[in-house]
Amino acid sequence: MADLRHDAMTGRWVAIAPARATRPGADEPASDDPASCPFCAGNEELTPPETLRLGGGPTGWQVRVVPNLYPALERQEVVIHGPAHVHSFGELSDATIDLVAEAWQRRARDEGGFCFPLLNEGHEAGSSLPHSHSQLAWLPAPAPLAVAERGLPALIEVLERDGVTAGCPVASRVPYELLIAPSRSEADGLRSDLLAPALRLLAELVRRLQRIRGQQFVPLNAWLHDGPHWHLEVFPRTTRLAGLELGAGVYIDSVAPEDAAAELSA
Ligand SMILES: [Zn+2]
Ligand SMILES: [Zn+2]
Repeated sequence: MADLRHDAMTGRWVAIAPARATRPGADEPASDDPASCPFCAGNEELTPPETLRLGGGPTGWQVRVVPNLYPALERQEVVIHGPAHVHSFGELSDATIDLVAEAWQRRARDEGGFCFPLLNEGHEAGSSLPHSHSQLAWLPAPAPLAVAERGLPALIEVLERDGVTAGCPVASRVPYELLIAPSRSEADGLRSDLLAPALRLLAELVRRLQRIRGQQFVPLNAWLHDGPHWHLEVFPRTTRLAGLELGAGVYIDSVAPEDAAAELSA
């Protein structure tokens, strides 16, 4: 079990987790062969027993939630996005996405505590397995970065759909950074009916980003920030963070957010 440390002077939380270094995919991308993929239908015995199973069909499930085999925190679970070996959130059907939203919300409600949902896609983004999945991490306290926010950043709107708005922050940290939030301010995304529409919008924007960049796959991180106005932040990992970003908290963004928003709106 990880050794969780909090530094009171800086507010920093760190999970010391040496076992993570030996997990498959820690150093190099894991095998992309569905035959050995623990998240593919037919390989269910390769994961620990599931904590939730949703949907039916020929495989008996559409979304499974299983404990993370290599947790860095007290509780960490993996939400498997469908029985087929799909790489990108943008390839998921709306029906699957709705079940992903339901899985996040049901597991958060059933376990209580500070559940932090996140998506790592691609080895560059910290994912160790290529089959599309998200994670639920139970934190010891509300996420420090969400707590530090005083409101939504100023946005250049890209698209509004089903009560949810997406835009590029005026001060985007990386090219094509996006924020997706309910069009009317509301708290508690893990209880909101707008979470599923927000995740469907995320998939649409991932597809647009892939098209703009001419790539079938764009590595990215995304996460849910709760607070007075909950939102999803989408952080494409097409550039490397270096000393200025890590040391000063000052980001260098090589694509103007107004240009990114215009491209993403088209
Ligand atoms: Zn798979
Ligand atoms: Zn935020």
